[in-house]
Amino acid sequence: MEAANNPNSEAVRKPQLIYRCKKCRRIVASEESIVPHELGKGEQCFKWKKRSGDKLGEEKEPTQCSSIFVEPLKWMQPVQEGYVEEKLQCIGCKARLGSFNWAGMQCNCGAWVNPAFQLHKNRLDECYM
Ligand SMILES: [Zn+2]
Ligand SMILES: [Zn+2]
Repeated sequence: MEAANNPNSEAVRKPQLIYRCKKCRRIVASEESIVPHELGKGEQCFKWKKRSGDKLGEEKEPTQCSSIFVEPLKWMQPVQEGYVEEKLQCIGCKARLGSFNWAGMQCNCGAWVNPAFQLHKNRLDECYM
């Protein structure tokens, strides 16, 4: 581990987006493990988010997903143990990072993801490496 990772490895790899636990900085997901989903029709799926009253100041950008969905990853212990749905905790610091459900979950954008391994963006730090 000392030979400083191989300066000229392969071609030029473009930086990869990774997600770390905000608390302990452990890497919990990377771009590769993200399962993309199509943005749902947010306001139609959630009644409480009415759009009819238009006068809400300037339009915000379209519904942003507040979480990412990933493949089942090794650190997700309850997944390994066979749970169908559970919380997902960082194995480093036990911070709650999200939850999963093999039967699927709904993103805040309204899209259903199935199966769903959801990590909340506000518990994560995004960075490139
Ligand atoms: Zn979404
Ligand atoms: Zn952590």
